[in-house]
Amino acid sequence: MAATGEAQPAKHQEVGHKSLLQSDALYQYILETSVYPREPESMKELREVTAKHPWNLMTTSADEGQFLNLLLKLINAKNTMEIGVYTGYSLLSTALALPEDGKILALDINRENYEIGLPIIEKAGVAHKIDFREGPALPLLDEMVNDVKLHGSFDFIFVDADKDNYLNYHKRLIDLIKIGGVIGYDNTLWNGSLVAPPDAPLRKYVRYYRDFVLELNKALAVDPRVEICQLPVGDGITLCRRIS
Ligand code: SAM
Ligand code: CA
Repeated sequence: MAATGEAQPAKHQEVGHKSLLQSDALYQYILETSVYPREPESMKELREVTAKHPWNLMTTSADEGQFLNLLLKLINAKNTMEIGVYTGYSLLSTALALPEDGKILALDINRENYEIGLPIIEKAGVAHKIDFREGPALPLLDEMVNDVKLHGSFDFIFVDADKDNYLNYHKRLIDLIKIGGVIGYDNTLWNGSLVAPPDAPLRKYVRYYRDFVLELNKALAVDPRVEICQLPVGDGITLCRRIS
């Protein structure tokens, strides 16, 4: 406390972080040591613009953006999909990782927020990789699943939208991702609320989506069509590699 002259631990400024690490100071250390010094200028600019937006809590954090960018390069992804764009931080980290002829089918019900990030994505020279479609993802996925040519056509799919639909998405995405391809489900640790006692004072939206995230995690854990790994990056991301 200030009165005793004790130093306060550093409070991180990262809007997309949900405090899964043991301390804010440790998270700040990761950002300052390994993430910010390597963050491309365009991602920094988008992160700063997004931080001023009233819904900034929704953005992907800088460390998760770095993780996605490296993962996409490791798996040589070329044809990808993103469900849930917001202002485009994870989209930009994906676009920067893909080869010149790489593609991202980007789905969101809200174009306005995508347009906040679009000038920065254009300036970074990667907008040509993005096919943005405004509207709910589920009907479009249904259309795609009906086209057998699209089966097994995606190398990577990032799901970061309405958590109450993740299992509906999974049912469809499993046909669209190629064998050996990866689906990443974001926020699978849901603010740490998954292990909170029933009477814990959770924000309304956290409480509402919690049961859906619990159900998703249970279902993925026993799905024989995928190998999984749940990582405590950002708010938790579960990677699913399709094996059959
Ligand atoms: N990946 C984004 C980023 O890096 O900033 C964050 C996405 S934000 C957590 C969730 C997004 O999902 C919102 O932009 C919201 O409009 C979108 N969304 C919600 N329901 C949707 C639906 N049914 N279909 C497509 N997008 C949806
Ligand atoms: Ca997220």
